[in-house]
Amino acid sequence: MIRRTLIGMATLVVGGSVGAFWFKSKETVSDVIVVGGGYAGLAAAVSAAKKGLKVVVIEKRARVGLNTHSDRGLFASSKSPSGEPSFGDSVENHFRQSYDSGGRLADPAVLQAFVSRAPETLAWLGNLGMSFDKTAINSNSLWRRCYQPLQNGYVETLYREAIRLGVYFVFNEKVIDIQRTSNRMDVVITSTDRGNKKEYKGRYGIILCAGGFGANLSLIKRFSPKYEQLESDNEQGSSGEVLLLAKEKGAALCGLDRILCLPRPPGNFKSQGYLHLNVSRFIFINSQGKRFVSEDALRPAITEAFFREGNNPVYELADDLAVKNYQLDIQKDLWRGIEHGTVFKGKNLADLASKLSIPPDLLVDTVERYNSFVENKKDLDFGKSSLNLLHKIAHGPFWAVRVNMKIHESLGGLVIDERCRVLDEANHPILGLYGAGSIVGNVHGNNRLGGNGLSSSITLGRLAGQEVGRI
Ligand SMILES: Cc1cc2nc3c(=O)[nH]c(=O)nc-3n(C[C@H](O)[C@H](O)[C@H](O)COP(=O)(O)OP(=O)(O)OC[C@H]3O[C@@H](n4cnc5c(N)ncnc54)[C@H](O)[C@@H]3O)c2cc1C
Repeated sequence: MIRRTLIGMATLVVGGSVGAFWFKSKETVSDVIVVGGGYAGLAAAVSAAKKGLKVVVIEKRARVGLNTHSDRGLFASSKSPSGEPSFGDSVENHFRQSYDSGGRLADPAVLQAFVSRAPETLAWLGNLGMSFDKTAINSNSLWRRCYQPLQNGYVETLYREAIRLGVYFVFNEKVIDIQRTSNRMDVVITSTDRGNKKEYKGRYGIILCAGGFGANLSLIKRFSPKYEQLESDNEQGSSGEVLLLAKEKGAALCGLDRILCLPRPPGNFKSQGYLHLNVSRFIFINSQGKRFVSEDALRPAITEAFFREGNNPVYELADDLAVKNYQLDIQKDLWRGIEHGTVFKGKNLADLASKLSIPPDLLVDTVERYNSFVENKKDLDFGKSSLNLLHKIAHGPFWAVRVNMKIHESLGGLVIDERCRVLDEANHPILGLYGAGSIVGNVHGNNRLGGNGLSSSITLGRLAGQEVGRI
């Protein structure tokens, strides 16, 4: 076992000192254990390692980055990477919109810890080698504050930096227990698929970054049965066992019934494209070719509107100019979607309507009416904000993507404080235990604004890495 570990170390650790890791029989001693190698875990590992701590990341899968479909996803920040306010945005505005849209259920101090540090986290990612589109978009974020990476993704950037700093990664071992051997939580027990157990000690503590439970349909059924019929867009690793483990050890949990949903193409949605990234560039239409909800409504309201459409097909519709404004990967996915039969393209609206089995005049009426709202900056039907009535749907060819509502993220989980310390039922920090990312339940409330997922996970992961070991 020791030999295997040391060989793993030799291959994984580039340029970092290995002197402070001690290998005993079945036990590895370090300063910090990070559970989960997703966005939050990688950010926590990098920031703890930057302080000079020896960090072990334990990831149950064979590689870092679980929901890497979002690896070049949107990052919400009230300032651009170069520090300019996004269209006059501010930390206060980001806070207020996030807090209100989440039903005022977030912990204000934790939300503030996130939104106030999001701009510096965006700049930090820039310093690590990421570059972002300078123009922020509104993606159900109530403001144009979502930045899109241009080249490198978050996972590859953070992983490269972690390796450079000598972070030690353990793969294919699942965390099955956390324990206290001193006055703090400091030991993690893992198991391989074959049932081999190992113990890892983090002298200063453990950072839980094991993600949410959006792929665990039995937990969804238990906590929020109204979503049990929906498919999930999460990878299988979003299973929630670490959350339940933390509860057994005394951690308080909150909001487990809060599930965020998003429209996605049916079945395996990957590489099939979508048109909803920028709320000002598309409309939803139903099987009669009519709009049925405002595209910039809060996500729970959009989910309810989809439920009202029952099993009838629903589409996202945009023009060619919108498509050309999206990243190349999205454009490629849309072309693949045509092959999958979920994306439709028509040389004009009537042609598109016939492919969707919608009477052409109805679709033409809908789009002309929407374009008149754009012209007059007033949506008489669904109240889309004038800030998002920016682009007519006018430049053919026209595109439509068939979408179903899918489970996107569990919003409930651990209760933490503004220093990312995990709290118990009496609201006291559990010494040595930290949490960040979608395992945390008191950051968003009952809705998460677009871009706040990656942004809060990386920002609070980074904060947890700074806080661990601090008195
Ligand atoms: C398709 C898709 C697109 C998205 N796009 C965006 C976007 O554009 N903008 C945005 O803000 N958000 C987006 N999100 C949400 C965003 O991906 C999540 O907020 C983010 O993944 C949360 O990061 P995390 O590190 O907390 O969890 P994860 O990324 O889920 O990472 C958790 C890690 O912990 C590991 N793990 C779990 N249990 C154990 C265990 N027992 N032992 C060891 N390891 C374990 C998992 O394998 C995983 O690698 C998207 C999500 C999806 C699914």
